[in-house]
Amino acid sequence: MQVRGGKALVSEVQEKGLCVDCGGCVGLCPYFRSHRGRVAMLFDCGLDEGRCHAHCPKVEVDLDAVSRQIPGVPYTEAPAGYFRRMVKTRAGEKMVGRAPYQNGGTVSSLLALAFDSGLIDAAALTDREGLIPRPRVVTDVAGVLACASSKYMASPTVSAVHEAIAAGFQRIAFVGTPCQATSVGQMRCQIPGHSENGPIALTIGLFCTWALDARALTSMASAEMDLQAITGMDVPPPPASVFSFKTQNGSVDIPLERVREAIPEGCRICPDMTAEFTDLSVGALEGDTTWNSLICRTAAGEALFDAALKKGYLEAAPMDPAQAAGLLKASAVKKARAMARAREEGLLNNAEGASALRVEPAVVDRILGGTGQ
Ligand SMILES: Cc1cc2nc3c(=O)[nH]c(=O)nc-3n(C[C@H](O)[C@H](O)[C@H](O)COP(=O)(O)OP(=O)(O)OC[C@H]3O[C@@H](n4cnc5c(N)ncnc54)[C@H](O)[C@@H]3O)c2cc1C
Repeated sequence: MQVRGGKALVSEVQEKGLCVDCGGCVGLCPYFRSHRGRVAMLFDCGLDEGRCHAHCPKVEVDLDAVSRQIPGVPYTEAPAGYFRRMVKTRAGEKMVGRAPYQNGGTVSSLLALAFDSGLIDAAALTDREGLIPRPRVVTDVAGVLACASSKYMASPTVSAVHEAIAAGFQRIAFVGTPCQATSVGQMRCQIPGHSENGPIALTIGLFCTWALDARALTSMASAEMDLQAITGMDVPPPPASVFSFKTQNGSVDIPLERVREAIPEGCRICPDMTAEFTDLSVGALEGDTTWNSLICRTAAGEALFDAALKKGYLEAAPMDPAQAAGLLKASAVKKARAMARAREEGLLNNAEGASALRVEPAVVDRILGGTGQ
């Protein structure tokens, strides 16, 4: 990929409506800022090349190059990417009930062990102010627990990685959705020092079908409830078909159909459901959301998982084959839909500057083969 500057980023991504507010371009210079769910360039920047463009997951991303950085293998049509192990997990005896985890608490438990064992000295996480997601650099287990639970919105979380690097942290963990993880992967590809020996020590990806536009969700929610009363949110499994806000007085449900109007355009060309470019990926377990599905992708991720079991941070059990098959099916559907859409929109394997995705044509054929796309 040809790295360009801030103006190119605006024309290739923002003006096409593809920005997903991941924060990859935010906090690196005085120009790019995220405000209430939107990234804007405040002043013109004259540079021909910039990290803003290099980190963006919606400029032309060479999926093979990112995959070769982490997990360290070529990009293929595998629905959930490369992995060593897939199991179901939840918080172990050391972590049970310590925070309002979204599902089994696997993410917070892995981070807690990473801090307790000295593997990391900071983590780039996502908190919330009212309904708006807020990137946070946390430096201890209390910070991890304060950020537990999902904010189902696009969040400029990658800016917290920049903030942690600027503050001099050397062993940084990052938790994020597939687009945010792709931005961190781009960072590793483009910037010397962000390789496996760089300051990013651990990446935990979150499964994601979509992340809502924070402004649009705020305006929907404020018509129904006091935003300050919101204590959490959830997308209950089918057949519920609602987006559920938890409040001090119970829950307020909005039909999923309405909420889907707040899905950013950039999500629709995202082929990654399980955050493939990470050490470990975590999602809800189909059929029992008090557990997680956990995917170990790298040796480092697998070692952390094994240590978490041994030290009582996690408990694990084999995943039912039907649950594993369901996860792979859902991932394959997202991948094929996104590739087909990107191709229709001229965003796949097009000219430099016009593409959002570059993928080996034979891999695209295999992804689309048999799906009717
Ligand atoms: C936008 C979004 C969409 C998701 N879609 C799916 C899905 O379709 N299917 C599925 O199985 N799982 C999905 N998940 C993942 C799921 O909601 C849980 O995060 C996951 O199961 C881990 O649960 P846990 O109990 O281990 O997390 P916890 O221990 O509660 O930790 C949650 C972690 O998520 C981080 N986080 C919260 N919100 C965001 C955000 N907006 N951006 C980046 N990081 C964030 C926090 O920093 C925290 O560390 C989604 C998550 C998000 C944020």
